[in-house]
Amino acid sequence: MGKSFQEMWSKIKGKIKEVSPEELKKRIAEGKETILLDIREKDEIRREYICGAELLPRGFLEMRVEDLIPDREKPVVVYCAAGVRSAFAAKTLMDMGYKDVASLRGGIDKWKRSGFEVLRDLDFTREQLDRYSRQIILPEVGEQGQAKIRRGKVLIVGAGHLSSAATMYLAAGGVGTLGIVDSHPVTPGDLRGQILHTVTSLGKNRAESAARMVERINLDVSAKAYPIQLEGEKALDILKDYDAALECSGDSRTRYLVNDACVLMEKPLFIAEMTGDWGKAMSIYPGEGPCYRCVFAEMDLDENTTEGDGYSDALDGGMMGLIQAAEIFKLFLGKGDPLKGRLLIWNGFRMRFEQKSVERDRACPLCGEHPTINHLIREEGSYEQLG
Ligand SMILES: [Zn+2]
Repeated sequence: MGKSFQEMWSKIKGKIKEVSPEELKKRIAEGKETILLDIREKDEIRREYICGAELLPRGFLEMRVEDLIPDREKPVVVYCAAGVRSAFAAKTLMDMGYKDVASLRGGIDKWKRSGFEVLRDLDFTREQLDRYSRQIILPEVGEQGQAKIRRGKVLIVGAGHLSSAATMYLAAGGVGTLGIVDSHPVTPGDLRGQILHTVTSLGKNRAESAARMVERINLDVSAKAYPIQLEGEKALDILKDYDAALECSGDSRTRYLVNDACVLMEKPLFIAEMTGDWGKAMSIYPGEGPCYRCVFAEMDLDENTTEGDGYSDALDGGMMGLIQAAEIFKLFLGKGDPLKGRLLIWNGFRMRFEQKSVERDRACPLCGEHPTINHLIREEGSYEQLG
């Protein structure tokens, strides 16, 4: 004769470990390694979930958990709405060989009643789910990853060649907030490669034109134009509202300024530049790897950053911008290998990518052992005095 639910439940209760919301909160606060697994149905998860949880509906548990948690030694806390489904799921995980599994007593309902926070950022509309479906379907992204991308705020310095592809892909992929800085007007020569701008933008400010293009690409994205030349403290003031920056100005002074601002404010920065027919890209994670000054100590004020010798600096700029955009998506997803401690060099004419390892310079005046640059001064045209 089969067992009733009550019989199964009492049997399960005796076999699994439970943690209270307070115990789980303490574990998380102490930084103890714990994989939090939400096994509710998708529509329940979309309403709310606990920050940091991996989302795996119960129906897919046995099939997908080994991909999600390959190490069976890692501590896992499973939760559902009220703690019943998660108890059965915990038993299943134990049967599959997971050594340290617990179920959250009272589930997310009790977690909330205990006054602890939940996230409600998976409220995508049908149209948004359709738009991002091929991104969301990727295991590295999912709806949670798309929500992180949507929360992302990126400051893009420059609205020319380098910035064009980067800005359009960030907008199309759903990065929620884009700030664009550029003081120049759109000229006919810009239209050859600066695909952010169209003939209707001629004579208008490039940052404004770029922001209008972002709105045309994706209404979910909030675009703010800064039609100014970035200088000194102003850079810090603008940057404070963003998570990360792209340096696409093509101007040496601005590049050092943005590098310094990002290191001082500990914000990730993705730099690309064109020198002749060579493109260079590097990603700066302050405190974790070299900054731009560690690698390029001397400011080259004579560089020509916009004219390529090869076939098309416009295409090269587009390629470098794509690399910057790729770095941004990885940053928000917290996945993949960033271009940290590596300088990527690209030559489209010869179709060659090269990489160099680059290291932090202990003598760097910005991020070295005895920094001399600890604030940004000042005015137009004189930034080189700092270095
Ligand atoms: Zn440095």
